[in-house]
Amino acid sequence: MKSFNMESHVGRTGQTDSHKKVRGLVFSIQAHSVHDGPGARTAVFMSGCPLKCVWCCNPEGLFNQPVMLHSDVKCVKCGACIAACPHGAVSLQDGVLTFDRSLCNQCGTLECVEACLHEGNVISGAWYTMDELMRVFERDRMFWGSKGGVTFSGGEPLMQKSFILPLLKKCKESYIHVTIETTSHLPADYFMDAIRYVDWVFTDIKHMDPERHRELTGVDNRLILANIQRLAEADWWQGIVVPRIPVIPGINDSDEN
Ligand code: SF4
Ligand code: SF4
Repeated sequence: MKSFNMESHVGRTGQTDSHKKVRGLVFSIQAHSVHDGPGARTAVFMSGCPLKCVWCCNPEGLFNQPVMLHSDVKCVKCGACIAACPHGAVSLQDGVLTFDRSLCNQCGTLECVEACLHEGNVISGAWYTMDELMRVFERDRMFWGSKGGVTFSGGEPLMQKSFILPLLKKCKESYIHVTIETTSHLPADYFMDAIRYVDWVFTDIKHMDPERHRELTGVDNRLILANIQRLAEADWWQGIVVPRIPVIPGINDSDEN
C-alpha cells in the first residue's frame, strides 16, 4: 500500500501557541457556494492529494507550496517575466510563452508574478492559521442560513492532518455544520477519527475495478471502499455519507462499471 505523508503540506509560523503556529495551505476559498453540500456554504479548498486522477479538475491543488498559474488570455507577451525569472524557466517560442513546469512547480520565489503587470501570472495557494480561517467563517456565517455551513474540499481536505483535525474540532465546538469532499483514501484510524467532527461526507468512487482505478488515479480502490464501508457501519456516527461517481466519458461510464 502507498505510504502516507500527512504533514508534508503543513506550514509553521514563528508563534509558540500550538494551534497558532500550524498553518494549512489553501488554494481557494469560495463564499456562498451552493454546490458543495446543503444550503449556502463557505467552501475551502485544501492543497494536497493522495491521488493523481488523469482528469483532475483542480491540479493546482496537488502541490505542497503556493504555485504560479499562467493565464494565456491575460498575457500580452511583454516578456517581463522572462527577464524576471532567475531560473530560466520561461521562453517565448513562435509567439507562445512556455514555462518549464519542472522548475515552476518547485519554485519558492515566484518573481514572475511580481513582474507581470497584467495578471498573466498569479499565485495559487496561501497559508492560513486556524484563527484566520475561523474569522472567515464568522464573517460568512450570517449568509449560511439554517442549513449551510463550511465545506472542506481539495485536493484531499484531510491531507494536512495537524492543521485540519484541530480545525474540524473547532468548527464542531462553534456549532458549524461541516461537509467534506474526500477521496476516502486515508489511513482508516485517522479517517474515522476525523469523521467524528464531520456532519456530511461526499466521497468519490472513481472506478470499481482496483487495477483500472490504479491506472487512472495512482492508487487502487480497496482502502477507499473499505473506508466507505466503515462509514456505513459506524452506528455511533450521525452524519450523512453520499457516494459520488465522477462520470468521465470513455473512462468509467461503461455499463459493466
Ligand atoms: S514560477 Fe519561478 S521558475 Fe517559474 S517562471 Fe516564475 S520565477 Fe521562474
Ligand atoms: S509578464 Fe505577464 S504579460 Fe508579460 S509575458 Fe509574462 S505573463 Fe505575459
